[in-house]
Amino acid sequence: MARRRIAFVLPVYDEVESLTAFHAALTTAIAERPDLEFELVYVDDGSRDGSLDLLLELREADDRVAVLGLSRNCGHQIAVTAGLGAVGAADAVVVMDTDLQDPPAVALELIARWEQGADVVYAQRRTRRDSRFKRTTAWGFYRLLSRVASIEIPRNVGDFRLMDRRVVAEVGRYREHDRFLRGIVAHVGFRQEAVLYDREHRHAGRTKYPLRSMVALASAGIVGFSTAPLRWISRLGFAISFMAVLVAAYVLYVRVFNPEDAVPGWAFLGVGMFLLGGIQLIMMGVIGTYLGRVYTATQNRPLYSIALVARGSAETDPSSR
Ligand code: UDP
Ligand code: MG
Repeated sequence: MARRRIAFVLPVYDEVESLTAFHAALTTAIAERPDLEFELVYVDDGSRDGSLDLLLELREADDRVAVLGLSRNCGHQIAVTAGLGAVGAADAVVVMDTDLQDPPAVALELIARWEQGADVVYAQRRTRRDSRFKRTTAWGFYRLLSRVASIEIPRNVGDFRLMDRRVVAEVGRYREHDRFLRGIVAHVGFRQEAVLYDREHRHAGRTKYPLRSMVALASAGIVGFSTAPLRWISRLGFAISFMAVLVAAYVLYVRVFNPEDAVPGWAFLGVGMFLLGGIQLIMMGVIGTYLGRVYTATQNRPLYSIALVARGSAETDPSSR
C-alpha cells in the first residue's frame, strides 16, 4: 500500500522571528512518522518582514515544503482557505499556527486519532496562556455563540485541527466571504473528535489578531451561523407592543380612579407611541425573516455532505480512503 500523505497548512503573517524555530520543531515531530509522507504548505499572508524569503529558503533546503504567497494580507481565515485549496493529493490535512502556540507534537496525536477512524480531530485547549482579556472575551464569545448558533460549534477550539480529505473537499464548497472556518468545519459534520492540549505562549513577536480582527472574526461566527439577531427585532417589537397594552391599562385606571390627574390627549400619545414603535419593529422583524432567507440563500452553502452510499451489493464511501 502506498504511504499515506499528510499535508500541513501553515499560515504565516510576519513571523520571521518564529519561523525557523517552528519549522525545526515541526520537522523533528514528523520525523517520528517515517511511515507517512508529508507536505508542508506555508501560506505567506502578505508578510512585510521577510517571512516570504525565509520560507523560500526553507523550501530550497527541504522539498516537502511548498510556499504559497498571497498578493496582500487577506487575513488568517482566508490564508488557511487558500492553503486548503493548494494542498496536493493528501489523505488528511492539518492546519496549525506558525508561532509555536500549537505544539507540533500534538499534531502527531491528531494524526493518530485520524488513523483510528475520526474524520475531523480538533485540538481543544485545556489551558491557554493568553492575556486575561483574551481569555474572558473568548469565554463570553463561545458562550454567546453556542446559544445562538444553528449548529453546535465546539468551545475552546481554534483552527488547529486535522481534517480528512473528504472533509477538506466539503469545506472547499463553502465559498462565503466572511469566513469562520471552525464553524464551517462543524457545519460539514462527519465524525469529529477532540484531543485536549495545553496552548503555549507565542514564540516571538506580537499577536496578529488585534482587537479589531477578533471582533470581525466573532461577528463572522455569529452572523454566519445564526439569524437569531434578526429574530430579536420582532421579539423586541412584541415586547414594546405589550408595553402599549400596559400603558393603556394605566391610562384607563387613571381615567376611572383619579380623573383629575388625566391630561387631555395623553392616552392617544402615550399608547400610540408604544404601539407604533412596537408595530414598526414587528414589521422590521418580518422583513428580517425574509432577509435571513435571502442571506442563507446567498451564502450558497451545500445542502448536505454525503458520508456513505450503500446501494445494491456495495457499500462505499464516496471517496474512500
Ligand atoms: N496570521 C495570518 N494572517 C493574519 C493574521 C495571522 O496568516 O492576518 C497567522 C499567524 O502568522 C499565525 C496564525 O495566523 O500563524 C495565528 O495568528 P496569531 O498567532 O497572531 O493569533 P493568536 O494566536 O494571537 O490568536
Ligand atoms: Mg498565536
